Amino acid sequence: MSNRIILLGAPGSGKGTQARHLAAEWGVPQIATGDMLREAAAHGSPLGLEAKRYMDTGGLVPDGVVIGLVAERLARPDAKAGFVLDGFPRTVAQAEALDRILREPGLSLDRVAFLDVSRAELLRRLTGRRVCRRCGAAYHLVSAPPQTSDRCDACKGELYQREDDAPAAVARRLDVYEKQTAPLLAYYERGGLLAAVRGEGSMDDVTAGIRKAVRGTGAA
Ligand code: AMP
Repeated sequence: MSNRIILLGAPGSGKGTQARHLAAEWGVPQIATGDMLREAAAHGSPLGLEAKRYMDTGGLVPDGVVIGLVAERLARPDAKAGFVLDGFPRTVAQAEALDRILREPGLSLDRVAFLDVSRAELLRRLTGRRVCRRCGAAYHLVSAPPQTSDRCDACKGELYQREDDAPAAVARRLDVYEKQTAPLLAYYERGGLLAAVRGEGSMDDVTAGIRKAVRGTGAA
C-alpha cells in the first residue's frame, strides 16, 4: 500500500507531532516545509533569509519558493515509498502544483487527513508553546511543561518561543490560515481525498483517528 498522505490543519493543530510519529510508523519521510524553511534560515542561506522575513510576522512564504523546495525534496529516493506532508500545501496554487509534480511520474495522493481544532484551543496551544533550540522537541507551559523551566528534558537544550508564536503573529497566522489554507478543504473534498479527524483528544486518540482516516483502521 502506498503512503502519499497530507496532514492538513491550522497552525497549532498538532499536525507536526502527529506527522513525525506516523511517518516513522509507516517508514516514510515527514516533509515539513516549516522545518525546512527554519533550517534554511538558521543556516543563513539567501533563500532562508528571504523566507524568514515572511515567517517572523506570520505571513506565508511565496508559493514559488516553497513549491521549489518540495519538488526537490519529493525527487529524493526516500520519498519514492511515500511521504507525510506537514504544512504543505497551504494555498490552492501549492495544491495544484503538487498535483502536477506527482502526475509527472504517474503518481497521486492517497489521503488528506484534516485535523479539526477550535480557534480558542489553537490560540491556547500556540501562545504557550516552547521549542528546544537544539533538538526541536516541543513543550507547552501549561499542558506539557518541561521538568526544568527553559531547558529541554531530552537534551538540555535551551527552550525558546518561536518568533511566530508571539500573540500578534499567532493571530495573523490563524487569519492567513482561514483565508488561504482553509479553501483546500473544499479542494480535496471535491477530489474525494478528504477525511476529517477530531484533533482535540489525547495524543493517542488523535493518532488513532488519523490512522483510521488513512488506513480504515485505528490499530497500529
Ligand atoms: P509551520 O512550522 O508549518 O507552522 O510553518 C512556519 C512558517 O513557515 C509559516 O507561518 C510560513 O511563514 C512558513 N511556511 C511553512 N510552510 C509553508 C508553505 N507551505 N507555504 C508558505 N509558507 C510556509
